[in-house]
Amino acid sequence: MGRSVLVTGGNRGIGLAIARDLAGQGHKVAVTHRGSGAPEGLFGVRADVTDSEQVDEAFKQVEEHQGPVEVLVSNAGITQDTLLLRMTEEQFTSVVDANLTGAYRVAKRASRGMLRGKWGRFIFISSVVGLTGNAGQVNYAASKAGLVGLARSLARELGSRNITANVVAPGYVATDMTDALTEEQRTAVLSQVPAGRYADPAEIAAAVRFLASEEAGYVNGAVLPVDGGLGMGH
Ligand code: NDP
Repeated sequence: MGRSVLVTGGNRGIGLAIARDLAGQGHKVAVTHRGSGAPEGLFGVRADVTDSEQVDEAFKQVEEHQGPVEVLVSNAGITQDTLLLRMTEEQFTSVVDANLTGAYRVAKRASRGMLRGKWGRFIFISSVVGLTGNAGQVNYAASKAGLVGLARSLARELGSRNITANVVAPGYVATDMTDALTEEQRTAVLSQVPAGRYADPAEIAAAVRFLASEEAGYVNGAVLPVDGGLGMGH
């Protein structure tokens, strides 16, 4: 059965791969973007997840177009890497605002419809570094670790209503985000990954597809690593 899906940051990178995969499964898929427009074949709504009013407006448009969101993939995220001593408070709070508070904003807005519909899937895109930590990413790792507590609390609040909340923790994935790494950083990262390569975004999408499925109804509060063995299952 086709579900109503919303993927935040689904206009490019991992989010786009997830959106295309779920659309390929027969779901009705909407993505948020911040001005780039909708990717070919997908329904796009403009929203910055740091702005509750924009989030609300985007949900209204999605509801009108394809019904209440039944599968929410909270994927939008940013990095602003630097060592703690040099990290400004603004660099810390802005990353947490986009990656963690942004997830809270969209999850809260989606929960109404899921409760009414008595079915739902929350999938939060975290990161291996949320569990292992990473030098230069105090802000980012804190935001990604926060998603685990958020998802597990949601799982406890809504688990009896046929609603699940799970986390996917990717390792390094070939996108614009990892393109920003230097050759030296790339070599250092890959030396730690048993797979010896970056993930393809489609490999993250496959994990999301499972968690979004009917069959995953008894998987709740889980953290699913898709990291080529980097975190060894955490
Ligand atoms: P990209 O940098 O390629 O894309 C980021 C996406 O997030 C874009 O769609 C961007 O929109 C959107 N976004 C960023 N900030 C906001 C905001 N405030 N409001 C709405 N949308 C926003 O990243 P990836 O595809 O690589 O990453 C996707 C997710 O996966 C992120 O949460 C990231 O932390 C996580 N991740 C990535 C890994 C990797 O190796 N690439 C590893 C582990 C986790 P716009 O186009 O408008 O900028």
